[in-house]
Amino acid sequence: MNIHEYQAKEIFREHGIPVPPGEVATTPAEAEEIASRFGGGVVVKAQVHAGGRGKAGGVKLASNAKDARKAAEKILGMEIKGLTVRKVLVSPAEDIAHEAYLGAIVDRANGAVVLMASPEGGIDIEEVAAKTPERIFKEEVDARYGLLEHQASRLAFKLYPNDASRARQAADIIDKLYASMIDAGASLIEINPLITTESGELKAIDAKLNVDDNELLRKEKIAELRDVESEASEEVKARSQGLTYIKLDGDVGCCVNGAGLAMATMDLVKYYGGEPANFLDIGGSSSPEKVVTALEIITADPSVKSILFNIFGGITRCDDVANGIVEATEQIELGVPITIRLTGTNEEQAVEILEDAGFSAMTDMDEAVKKAVELAKN
Ligand code: GDP
Ligand code: MN
Repeated sequence: MNIHEYQAKEIFREHGIPVPPGEVATTPAEAEEIASRFGGGVVVKAQVHAGGRGKAGGVKLASNAKDARKAAEKILGMEIKGLTVRKVLVSPAEDIAHEAYLGAIVDRANGAVVLMASPEGGIDIEEVAAKTPERIFKEEVDARYGLLEHQASRLAFKLYPNDASRARQAADIIDKLYASMIDAGASLIEINPLITTESGELKAIDAKLNVDDNELLRKEKIAELRDVESEASEEVKARSQGLTYIKLDGDVGCCVNGAGLAMATMDLVKYYGGEPANFLDIGGSSSPEKVVTALEIITADPSVKSILFNIFGGITRCDDVANGIVEATEQIELGVPITIRLTGTNEEQAVEILEDAGFSAMTDMDEAVKKAVELAKN
């Protein structure tokens, strides 16, 4: 789950990380009112679950309340990476002398949290990581001991090698950032940029925090931060039906039962030269309704050029899935070819149901994937 910048900043604040004040507006008039209360220049920032808002025009400086209103008019309703902006954060504008990067992730390969810091923070951090990776400094945290003082200090001095005062402030922020991550159960936490103001103070003017959905069961306060309106609508729809859906960049829409088979299907799509448009696990004991929802989600994605069903019937009954496919195609126009592979429980009934409705089905997984990939290309 993603949370918004303003929510992550609240968590930072609770842990004592210096963050500028700010308030959220959902209309330009509210943005103007907040700006007039702050007085002076403000920054108006899109609150969406996407990075790169600055480059997309979602972060605007305004020198007075009237301009803040105009900035909010432009930003509210804007689309950033497919997500509509419904809220803006209004904060007093900061004078920036320097931008650094601070972040931490759960590194699965090393089974550890890795802290990262770079003196070259800001909107081009991806480029820094790609072109000059040596400018990103890392410390791996041993979970048995937590983040040690010398580790925070070492990173801090990489950020500000000639400035002990700033390095001390940074070490303290790094320590609090790690504590925020552990408390929230975050899989990723980021301050980009961590600015130095003209008067030499460090402040987190952006905040990002992701939490693994499985962690939410024991982090109720974080779970409450979910903003359903801001999430990709198809993911919300999938979750409400107990489906696991993740949008990807390809054009073969995949509908599979079981996470393992879904992974294997995506591998095979790639093996035969295709690109999956999504990961979609309809789960075990799939009712026809689940299949209808799955097909609605897949067909709503304009990049899908071909649909592939891959069902291994165990607890899932192939005839249920077949009924779902037939039902769905009565309700929605697929618009793209569909390839169906079914095998296992009630396979014969499923084939009959599908053939009666004018579909064909196969039992061989390789053949089905090859065909779906070909259909996507034509
Ligand atoms: P992102 O593009 O989604 O990461 O959004 P950020 O919050 O990081 O903002 C992008 C950039 O806008 C920052 O790197 C800053 O350069 C600039 N920016 C953000 N807030 C302020 C501010 O208060 N004052 C000034 N001068 N620039 C700001
Ligand atoms: Mn940022």
